[in-house]
Amino acid sequence: MAHSPVPTPVAPAFPTPDVNELTRPYWDGLKENRLMFQKCRCGNAWLPARRECPNCLGTEWQWTQASGKGCLISWVVYHTSYHDAFKSRLPYNVAIVELDEGPRLITNMVDANETLRGDAQVTLQVGWEGETALARFRMTD
Ligand SMILES: [Zn+2]
Repeated sequence: MAHSPVPTPVAPAFPTPDVNELTRPYWDGLKENRLMFQKCRCGNAWLPARRECPNCLGTEWQWTQASGKGCLISWVVYHTSYHDAFKSRLPYNVAIVELDEGPRLITNMVDANETLRGDAQVTLQVGWEGETALARFRMTD
Protein backbone atom coordinates (compact mmCIF):
# COMPACT_ATOMS: atom_id res chain seq x y z
CA MET A 1 0.00 0.00 0.00
CA ALA A 2 1.45 3.31 -1.11
CA HIS A 3 1.67 6.18 1.28
CA SER A 4 0.87 9.65 0.08
CA PRO A 5 3.30 12.28 1.22
CA VAL A 6 1.81 14.43 3.93
CA PRO A 7 1.74 18.00 2.68
CA THR A 8 3.55 20.51 4.83
CA PRO A 9 1.10 23.14 6.00
CA VAL A 10 1.95 26.53 4.55
CA ALA A 11 0.56 29.69 6.09
CA PRO A 12 -1.56 31.38 3.44
CA ALA A 13 -0.09 34.65 2.27
CA PHE A 14 -1.71 37.90 3.30
CA PRO A 15 -3.19 39.58 0.21
CA THR A 16 -0.93 42.26 -1.21
CA PRO A 17 -2.08 45.61 -2.61
CA ASP A 18 -1.85 46.62 -6.25
CA VAL A 19 1.02 49.11 -6.10
CA ASN A 20 1.33 51.03 -9.34
CA GLU A 21 2.29 54.49 -10.55
CA LEU A 22 -0.98 55.93 -9.30
CA THR A 23 -1.12 54.24 -5.88
CA ARG A 24 2.60 54.24 -5.00
CA PRO A 25 2.58 57.56 -3.05
CA TYR A 26 -0.10 56.13 -0.74
CA TRP A 27 1.75 52.87 -0.05
CA ASP A 28 5.20 54.47 0.17
CA GLY A 29 3.85 57.12 2.56
CA LEU A 30 2.58 54.50 4.99
CA LYS A 31 6.04 52.92 5.12
CA GLU A 32 7.20 56.27 6.55
CA ASN A 33 4.21 56.61 8.87
CA ARG A 34 2.49 59.16 6.64
CA LEU A 35 -1.11 58.75 5.46
CA MET A 36 -1.51 60.39 2.05
CA PHE A 37 -4.75 61.27 0.28
CA GLN A 38 -5.57 63.09 -2.94
CA LYS A 39 -6.92 66.63 -2.90
CA CYS A 40 -8.30 68.37 -5.97
CA ARG A 41 -8.12 72.09 -6.67
CA CYS A 42 -11.95 72.09 -6.42
CA GLY A 43 -11.47 71.29 -2.72
CA ASN A 44 -12.60 67.66 -2.85
CA ALA A 45 -10.42 65.08 -1.08
CA TRP A 46 -10.60 61.30 -1.41
CA LEU A 47 -9.27 57.80 -0.96
CA PRO A 48 -8.56 55.31 -2.43
CA ALA A 49 -6.39 56.62 -5.25
CA ARG A 50 -7.96 57.40 -8.60
CA ARG A 51 -6.89 59.38 -11.64
CA GLU A 52 -9.79 61.82 -11.72
CA CYS A 53 -11.47 63.77 -8.96
CA PRO A 54 -14.76 62.00 -8.12
CA ASN A 55 -16.41 65.43 -7.77
CA CYS A 56 -15.34 67.43 -10.86
CA LEU A 57 -13.50 64.72 -12.85
CA GLY A 58 -10.49 67.06 -12.94
CA THR A 59 -6.94 65.77 -12.96
CA GLU A 60 -5.33 68.73 -11.19
CA TRP A 61 -5.02 67.13 -7.78
CA GLN A 62 -2.13 66.68 -5.39
CA TRP A 63 -1.08 64.13 -2.83
CA THR A 64 -1.55 65.65 0.61
CA GLN A 65 -0.46 64.34 4.01
CA ALA A 66 -3.29 63.64 6.44
CA SER A 67 -3.00 64.46 10.12
CA GLY A 68 -3.75 60.80 10.84
CA LYS A 69 -6.68 61.84 13.01
CA GLY A 70 -10.29 61.00 12.34
CA CYS A 71 -13.50 59.49 13.60
CA LEU A 72 -14.79 55.90 13.70
CA ILE A 73 -17.91 55.88 11.53
CA SER A 74 -18.84 52.20 11.51
CA TRP A 75 -17.45 48.67 11.72
CA VAL A 76 -18.32 45.02 11.43
CA VAL A 77 -16.75 42.07 13.24
CA TYR A 78 -16.08 39.04 11.07
CA HIS A 79 -16.53 35.63 12.68
CA THR A 80 -16.04 33.82 9.39
CA SER A 81 -13.03 34.34 7.15
CA TYR A 82 -13.48 34.60 3.42
CA HIS A 83 -9.73 34.31 2.79
CA ASP A 84 -7.49 31.64 4.32
CA ALA A 85 -4.98 34.27 5.46
CA PHE A 86 -7.54 35.67 7.89
CA LYS A 87 -8.62 32.42 9.56
CA SER A 88 -6.12 32.76 12.39
CA ARG A 89 -7.25 36.35 13.05
CA LEU A 90 -10.90 35.63 13.77
CA PRO A 91 -12.79 37.44 15.05
CA TYR A 92 -11.47 40.61 13.38
CA ASN A 93 -13.01 43.96 12.54
CA VAL A 94 -13.31 45.93 9.32
CA ALA A 95 -14.03 49.58 9.98
CA ILE A 96 -14.80 52.82 8.19
CA VAL A 97 -12.84 55.82 9.43
CA GLU A 98 -13.45 59.37 8.30
CA LEU A 99 -10.29 61.46 8.35
CA ASP A 100 -10.44 65.00 9.72
CA GLU A 101 -9.59 66.11 6.15
CA GLY A 102 -12.70 64.38 4.78
CA PRO A 103 -11.76 61.15 2.99
CA ARG A 104 -13.13 57.89 4.36
CA LEU A 105 -11.22 54.65 4.22
CA ILE A 106 -11.87 51.01 4.92
CA THR A 107 -9.47 49.90 7.60
CA ASN A 108 -9.03 47.87 10.79
CA MET A 109 -9.18 49.11 14.36
CA VAL A 110 -6.38 47.75 16.54
CA ASP A 111 -8.51 48.07 19.68
CA ALA A 112 -10.38 45.04 21.02
CA ASN A 113 -13.58 44.50 19.03
CA GLU A 114 -15.84 44.77 22.08
CA THR A 115 -14.43 48.19 23.02
CA LEU A 116 -15.19 49.92 19.69
CA ARG A 117 -17.52 52.93 19.89
CA GLY A 118 -19.19 54.87 17.11
CA ASP A 119 -17.97 58.46 16.76
CA ALA A 120 -14.81 57.66 18.76
CA GLN A 121 -11.81 59.82 17.92
CA VAL A 122 -9.08 57.75 16.28
CA THR A 123 -5.49 58.14 15.17
CA LEU A 124 -3.35 56.36 12.61
CA GLN A 125 -1.39 53.33 13.75
CA VAL A 126 0.53 51.82 10.87
CA GLY A 127 0.57 48.03 10.90
CA TRP A 128 2.92 45.80 8.93
CA GLU A 129 2.01 42.68 6.99
CA GLY A 130 5.29 41.40 5.57
CA GLU A 131 6.66 44.22 3.42
CA THR A 132 3.37 46.11 3.29
CA ALA A 133 2.53 48.94 5.67
CA LEU A 134 -1.21 49.28 6.28
CA ALA A 135 -3.24 52.20 7.61
CA ARG A 136 -4.90 51.00 10.77
CA PHE A 137 -6.33 53.09 13.60
CA ARG A 138 -6.73 53.14 17.38
CA MET A 139 -9.19 55.03 19.52
CA THR A 140 -7.86 58.02 21.44
CA ASP A 141 -10.87 58.88 23.62
ZN1 LIG B 1 -12.28 68.22 -8.21
